[in-house]
Amino acid sequence: MTEVETVSAKQVVPDDPALHESMADTLASRGDWRGAYEHLRAALELQRTQPPPLPEQFRREVDRLRRERAQALEESLRDGLTTVYNRRYLDRRLDDLLTEPRGPLAVALVDIDLFKNVNDTFGHLAGDQVLRRVAMLLREGLPQHGFCARYGGEEFMLVLPAVQPDDAVRVAEGARTRVAEHPWSALWPGLSVTISVGLAYEAESAFGDRRQVLEADHLLYAAKHAGRNRVAYRDWSDAAVIGYCP
Ligand code: GH3
Ligand code: MG
Ligand code: MG
Repeated sequence: MTEVETVSAKQVVPDDPALHESMADTLASRGDWRGAYEHLRAALELQRTQPPPLPEQFRREVDRLRRERAQALEESLRDGLTTVYNRRYLDRRLDDLLTEPRGPLAVALVDIDLFKNVNDTFGHLAGDQVLRRVAMLLREGLPQHGFCARYGGEEFMLVLPAVQPDDAVRVAEGARTRVAEHPWSALWPGLSVTISVGLAYEAESAFGDRRQVLEADHLLYAAKHAGRNRVAYRDWSDAAVIGYCP
């Protein structure tokens, strides 16, 4: 007598109707009709008492997977330290904004002044904390459709679509002021932080390249050269203006 034939339906431990059915098949093929019958009864009983999976459960599961996927996508576009957008997101958006026909666009390249000194004097953890705060302060004054991304290291970019030149200057100048006036010494006695900003503005048209970003970089250099804690931009006559002299 085989092992299968010695096991009655009541002795089968797993609550699996499919298992009972397959055992019923095996027993029936061997002419053990009684055993097969018992297993079929057990399978039917289990099917009767086990509720079928509810569509509601499936819906909830799909919702959960959708949420997790959206969250993973969002996280892949954020900078881990500061939670502003990362370079990947920035590059994608700039590719779209700079290549498609469009309206006005301002890009402001922001660089923390003498940030190496912050690390050297207060330590890298303090430096990280400063990066987080600066990112928060930059994000605070953004207009609709504007966004902030970490460009790399201690550099950020404010991207401001559909703004007028005066508004772009106001946003950049507001960011500079918020950082300069933040109570940094409450974090670490003796700490102060400022930023320099290169602001490049284009009224319309697309060049299909990164000329505007290069222009922002050039103006940032001018702001640094003029003594830091400044916004540099071009006025209506295309002359470089250093916006603020503390
Ligand atoms: P400048 O005013 O000319 O910009 O001077 P700087 O000291 O800010 O510029 P520099 O390029 O010499 O130094 C930038 C420093 O930023 C060096 C690097 O260690 C630091 N840094 C870059 N990324 C991070 C980061 O994620 N955390 C910390 N703590 N430091 C960082
Ligand atoms: Mg830098
Ligand atoms: Mg710097």
